[in-house]
Amino acid sequence: MYENSVISLPGAAAGGPLVLLVEDERSIAEPFSRALQRAGFRTTVARTGAEAISQFAARAPDVILLDLALPDGDGREVCRRIRRDSGVPIIMVTASGTVTDRVVGLELGADDYVVKPFSTGEVIARIRAVLRRGHPKPPDGEALRVQDVRIDSGARRVWRGDVELELTRKEFDLLLRLARDAGRVVTREALMSDVWDMNWFGSTKTLDVHIGWLRRKLGDDPADPGYIRTVRGIGFCLAAEWERAQ
Ligand code: CA
Repeated sequence: MYENSVISLPGAAAGGPLVLLVEDERSIAEPFSRALQRAGFRTTVARTGAEAISQFAARAPDVILLDLALPDGDGREVCRRIRRDSGVPIIMVTASGTVTDRVVGLELGADDYVVKPFSTGEVIARIRAVLRRGHPKPPDGEALRVQDVRIDSGARRVWRGDVELELTRKEFDLLLRLARDAGRVVTREALMSDVWDMNWFGSTKTLDVHIGWLRRKLGDDPADPGYIRTVRGIGFCLAAEWERAQ
């Protein structure tokens, strides 16, 4: 029933990154879609949350621009559902831009957010930024490198520079989870559920204790952490190299 209202504008550049634009207001979606195409992106538009989910599954977009207010519900629910399966970059679009919206959006795994009315140039710059950042999700067994930390997920070994670190099983799992989303905030809820296989119901003291041990082993200075950054009330972020370049 949603298929008729899916529009995929013609003239898209072949081979450019595919942007899924989730926006019910035609007066925004159509000109913006054309602007993206002029900038070298391919676009596909969904006008409802349900369409967004089905287009995400069918088209595997490279980035999603997600309006918060949709005719069939809240964009945050769409974000949460997509995040269950995918690390695809998501930029939330909000009308109000309150701190709460931003926090909730990031908590659900959005990578960035923009406030309406936005300029096309600004959003295109944000899209390019999240695409540059990338979201490496290597399968088990591959090596992963974040700053000077190298993780061999198959052998479950970690080096900082040339020095091998002795991590416990949970410390290793925690570091690997953060490293797979390096540069992005991983929520406390996600860490509890992925590393401890537990539903999150309030207390995450265990998590803080393990983060503390991991920081010590990585040599993080609590006052100026170079590796694991705390995002208060949300979670933790393993700083990727690009973030440290000033
Ligand atoms: Ca809307």
